[in-house]
Amino acid sequence: MKLQLVRHATLLLDYAGMKILVDPMLSDAGAMAAIQNSPKPRPNPLVPLPFPVEQVLDGVQLVLVTHTHRDHWDDAAIQLVPKDLPLLCQPEDLKKMEAVHFVNASAVNDMKHWSQICITRTPAQHGSGEIARAMAPSSGYVLSSEGEPTLYITGDTIWYDQVAETIKEHNPQVIVVNAGAAQFLHGDPITMTAGDVVRVCRAATHAKVVAVHMEAINQERKWLARGDNGKRNLPRICADERGSREKVRTRNSSRGSLWPTSVSAANSLHNFVLLSHREKKSRAAQLFRALRVLT
Ligand SMILES: [Zn+2]
Repeated sequence: MKLQLVRHATLLLDYAGMKILVDPMLSDAGAMAAIQNSPKPRPNPLVPLPFPVEQVLDGVQLVLVTHTHRDHWDDAAIQLVPKDLPLLCQPEDLKKMEAVHFVNASAVNDMKHWSQICITRTPAQHGSGEIARAMAPSSGYVLSSEGEPTLYITGDTIWYDQVAETIKEHNPQVIVVNAGAAQFLHGDPITMTAGDVVRVCRAATHAKVVAVHMEAINQERKWLARGDNGKRNLPRICADERGSREKVRTRNSSRGSLWPTSVSAANSLHNFVLLSHREKKSRAAQLFRALRVLT
């Protein structure tokens, strides 16, 4: 398995010999309006794709969509993703996909076999209370295949009992969490806070936990404040995305050994990787500070 962050929640995944594009948001920087009711309204995405969209789409054999909020499936994706590509989505989104002529779209009700891959849809709670109900539905997926690590893509969810259940049931070796603690002006975060990420790490100490979904949308703020702590520490891990040659520094090495963000499941990074677009003063760095205190 190889996993590469493109931007935000958009991932490229080499899995069981197949190239899978997850949650494509392909707009140019600033092409979409700010999310309403959010702090610091600025056009989205906040950062450009790190490499040309043709390169993102090159060789993709399957598109996997967790839900159709525009930071996961935008107009540019509708326009640019080839309409005949196999596309899997949650049942509630199938009609939308068909309406924009994705002729090979199908829904993952509970589980689906595609090529040699078993794809199980998993529950997700996109916030708390009223907001969660308004944001629903969203899903996650667990991918498994012989000879590959089991991969759990949480989708947009906060930490809640069903995430714990999914980890228990599927015993994933790699978990991609959507962090960023996205939040409207009112109400609780709708994606994982630093505290939530720590809960995932604690629930799956054997797994590599990869945090994405940060820095690219104007809805994410006060990340550190919601990391269950207010302390500042130097980040031990930081991510630096420059084109496709991103590097991730591991927290286990005081000298900061570098790994490409195409995370190979064979490497022994334990147990947290963070992929983001900026470093130092970024939310990504703040997450690391928070994690250092919390873990
Ligand atoms: Zn999102």
